[in-house]
Parts: sequence; C-alpha cells; structure tokens
Amino acid sequence: MLLQKRTINKLSKIVGKHYLSCSKEDLLCYSYDATGRIFMPDAVAFPGSADEISRIMMLACEDGFPVVPRGAGTGMAGSSLPVQGGVVLAMSRLNRIIDIDAENFTITTEPGVVTGDLHKAVEQKGLFYPPDPSSAEISTIGGNLAQCAGGPRAVKYGVTRDYVLGLEAILPTGEMIKTGVRTAKGVVGYDLSRLIVGSEGTLAIITKVILRLLPLPETVKTMTAVFDSMEKAAQAVASIMRSSIIPRTVEYMDGASIKCVESYTPTGFPPNAQAALIIELDGGKDETEKKAGQLKNILTSCGAADVKVADTEAEVKAIWKARKAISPALYTYGPDKINEDIVVPRNNIPDMVRRLKALGEETGLTIVSFGHAGDGNIHVNIMLDRSDERTSELAMKTVDDIFDYTLLLGGTLSGEHGVGITKKHYIKKEIGPVELALMKKIKSVFDPKNILNPGKLF
Ligand SMILES: Cc1cc2nc3c(=O)[nH]c(=O)nc-3n(C[C@H](O)[C@H](O)[C@H](O)COP(=O)(O)OP(=O)(O)OC[C@H]3O[C@@H](n4cnc5c(N)ncnc54)[C@H](O)[C@@H]3O)c2cc1C
Repeated sequence: MLLQKRTINKLSKIVGKHYLSCSKEDLLCYSYDATGRIFMPDAVAFPGSADEISRIMMLACEDGFPVVPRGAGTGMAGSSLPVQGGVVLAMSRLNRIIDIDAENFTITTEPGVVTGDLHKAVEQKGLFYPPDPSSAEISTIGGNLAQCAGGPRAVKYGVTRDYVLGLEAILPTGEMIKTGVRTAKGVVGYDLSRLIVGSEGTLAIITKVILRLLPLPETVKTMTAVFDSMEKAAQAVASIMRSSIIPRTVEYMDGASIKCVESYTPTGFPPNAQAALIIELDGGKDETEKKAGQLKNILTSCGAADVKVADTEAEVKAIWKARKAISPALYTYGPDKINEDIVVPRNNIPDMVRRLKALGEETGLTIVSFGHAGDGNIHVNIMLDRSDERTSELAMKTVDDIFDYTLLLGGTLSGEHGVGITKKHYIKKEIGPVELALMKKIKSVFDPKNILNPGKLF
C-alpha cells in the first residue's frame, strides 16, 4: 500500500517534517522485529505528544491507512510489524518519566521509556518495579504493556498486568481515554486497563501509564544448580514449587543451551552439563540466608551435581549474562529458529520436558529449550534452515505436536510473546468460537475501521 502524497504532507504537518520519514533506510529499520520477518511500512512517524497521535489517528480514519505502534521492536511474535504497510508510529520520543511518588508507591511514565531505565530510576529511590523481561535493557514500557511482558521475576511477583493501575491512551478514532486509578484499589466500571494490556497494540495506543511499585527488597541471593539430566532439573523445579519457599526466579537451561552459551560467551557453566537452574531469593537478609540453605538441601536431594551461591556482584552478572546470551547464541545451531513460549502447569514440566526430548529424537530436529521454569514457561526453539523445505515442513508439524501436547497438559500456547502474526493460525486451538467472536466484536468496537495494527491476532 502506498500513501498518497497529500496524506504524507498532512502527516508531516502534524509531527513536523523532521519527525516523519519515508526514506528507504528508515523504512527498513522499522520493518522488522525479533522474528526477523520483514514488512516495509510506507512511512515512519515519530510523534512527540498524545495530541499528535490523536490527530494521526483522525487522519488515518479519514484517509484510510493502517497505523502500527512500535516500541523497541524486540517482540517475538511479529506484533509490531506493518503487515499491511501504512505508518509505523515509533514511540521513542514519548520517553519521559513524569513522576515517581514514593509515598504512594506509584510511577507515572510515558510509554517510550526503556524498561531498564525505569528499573534504575525507581531503585535509586529504594523502590522496585518487578516485571523484568530479559530484553529489559532495550524494550520499552509501552511494548511491555501491549505484550503483558513477563520475565524471570514473575514466579514471585507476577507479570506487567499486575502492576498497571491506570492508562492514558488514544483510540483508533483519535479520542483520548483515561482508564483505571492511581489509588491502591478501584472497581468503578469495566477494567479497560486490563483489556488494553496484552492486546498487542490492536485496541489503543498507550500514551501514559501509572504503575504500582513495591519497596526494594533488602537483599537478593543468586544460586545455580547443575544437573546431569533434564528430568532431574525438572523434578527439582516441581519440588521447589511444592515447598514453602517462594523464589523470585527459577530459570532453566537445557544441555544444548548451556553448550552454545559456553561456546558463545564462556561464563563458567560446565559445557557438558545436561541442565542448569538459576534461582534467586529476595527479602530480609536473615530470612533469605535461611531459605538459601533450605533450597540447597532440596536441590541436592533432587540430584543436583553442583549447587553454588554467588558471592559477588560480578558472579551474579556473569550468571545473568549467560542466561541472556542464550537467544543470540542459539544461532550457532542454525540460521533460523522457530521460537515458541508455551506454558504448562508447573507440576507437568517434567512431562513436557520428556515430550520435547522424544520429539527431538523422533524428528532429528535440534530442539533447544530454556526459560522461566518457575512459571512453567518453556521457551522451545527449533533450530533450522528455512530454505530447506523438508525440514521446514517437519518443524511446522513438530510445532503442531508441541502445541497439542501443551493444551493436553492444561497449558497455554504463549506465556509472554503473544500471538501477533506467528501464532494467529493456532489461536483457534486454544480459544473457543464464542470467545473468539467476542474478541473480534471488542476489536471492532474499539477500531470500527480496522486501522490500528491490522492483520494481528485473528
Ligand atoms: C532477547 C530477548 C529476550 C526477551 N525476553 C522476554 C522476556 O523475558 N519476557 C517477555 O515477556 N518478553 C521477552 N521478549 C520479548 C519482547 O522483548 C517483549 O515482548 C517486549 O515487551 C516488547 O517490547 P518492545 O518495546 O520491543 O515492543 P515492540 O516489539 O516494539 O512492540 C510489541 C507490541 O507492542 C505494541 N506497542 C508498542 N508500544 C505501544 C504503545 N505505546 N501503545 C500500544 N501498543 C504499543 C506494538 O504495536 C506491538 O504490538 C524478549 C525479546 C528478546 C529479543
């Protein structure tokens, strides 16, 4: 789709000519996300205020072009891709933290703020914003809300949705809405904030956010445990979650993840280990110390070959460096990856892990898994070369099998990456026809002309 010259001129008048680009280089930069798929937009706009976004949406209604909001483009499901062309709305200029209210434990911020910067800003004041996607150093708060991002700390603290008190947003019609509250409680009317959070930028463009904060925990203990089988590690996760200890993080890496990370950026995990867990506890100093001892006993009784508690900040950094390097390091196994983030009830993790191993053996595909085991959230990566048709077909069939088994175990197809374009053909596996029809009606109430991020979810 090509935008008419007069539409481009009107857009330029709204945002200012320096903040609109149709250059090929810029269009390319805003054409892809972490899926690696490419869809060229017709223009990229960098609005500087909610009012400008409102005027862009009114123009989109009049002239009939798609608008796709975009944070940092780290999404894993293609949710920010302009699949029908149109205008990408880069939210990077709406990047101010407006207020940190330490007395009421809230922060009011614009959506373009980088998640890691928000973490640092509140921590300087002794406050804590728990949601911590592994992409936090790049991703934005707006993208986190639109995807309802999780992260390692979700085991104890929940996901982005649990911290959103209220929003300011622009509807596809250009109207501004304010949802939710800035108080600790509030039940007046339907909960529109929760509807917009996780809607993958298809219902409204978030322009301001009020988030709930917590006091910063006094201390954090980081531990690692190494196993000679994935099953033992999975059993250990189930045992930890059955105990009275609530770690803030239980991450796992399978043998293939450890091997590729160690060759990519050596961080001290034995490269021949079959599985590893990264566990964090937080809270008061004495209590955390005591729980770390109990956890060590559980891990050892589940067959951990080596349990270590990190003593220094440098050790903690090295552990997280290894965990965060998995995604890029995986490409040592193949030029392409199919990346799913299924969730199963936590007591079914050993079962799911066995199934993944069997599928790898049956198909001969390289299936690597790691993820937020404490939530039952397993990142399953099938490494392949998409130019090989036979392997691609086999991989797609394997994804089908993985999804079917996930649902059989009472799980869900995505814990945090969302549906976007990559899972839209699978949504019917999980969502029934009545519920799907209701969702489509909600979309058309918010966006009667289907101009906001079309082609996603359904
Ligand atoms: C290495 C790596 C690790 C990751 N780890 C995690 C993890 O641990 N947990 C996790 O949940 N995810 C993770 N992700 C996925 C991704 O980082 C998250 O989905 C993140 O929330 C996306 O933020 P973003 O700013 O990049 O948004 P984008 O990718 O730019 O956009 C994502 C969606 O948000 C919409 N959007 C953006 N801004 C707005 C706005 N202001 N209003 C309305 N809609 C908007 C877009 O239209 C799109 O639908 C990871 C990704 C990578 C590459």
